[in-house]
Amino acid sequence: MKKQKANLTRYQAKRDFRKTPEPAGGKTTPHGHRYLIQKHAAHRLHYDFRLELDGVLKSWAVPRGPTLDPHDKRLAVEVEDHPLEYASFKGIIPHGQYGGGTVMLWDEGSWEAVGDAHHSLQAGKLVFRLHGQRLKGEWSLVRMRSSKGGRTNWLLIKKQDE
Ligand code: MN
Repeated sequence: MKKQKANLTRYQAKRDFRKTPEPAGGKTTPHGHRYLIQKHAAHRLHYDFRLELDGVLKSWAVPRGPTLDPHDKRLAVEVEDHPLEYASFKGIIPHGQYGGGTVMLWDEGSWEAVGDAHHSLQAGKLVFRLHGQRLKGEWSLVRMRSSKGGRTNWLLIKKQDE
């Protein structure tokens, strides 16, 4: 599977970088396989789940946050790719700006795909291992068939540990 070129057009179009302290991106320094979750107290609290791939952070907004219970599937709404610099962003996005509210780091570490990450994402089932401070072990992201309002919904699921 061919690597995708980093594309931050959607990310940049949503933001006014004169008004938000968030990074504009583009000064990419690939790290490898960074994983992080940011707790984002926006209009609605959610957890931003991010996996580094191809020079960007693939991103999902998880309204209820992750759970270690394998029987409890958590909605993960696909959102635009974020720049790698976003991994070290924390602070306050001003009200009135996209995603206005406080962003704090909730977990970080690295991840590894089980199988080919590009193929799995395209196929709608990504299995991966997390090596974070809080979250570890095997997880999956499974794309749902029906997506509402132009959104692509996934489920974030913890795999049963041995
Ligand atoms: Mn967010």
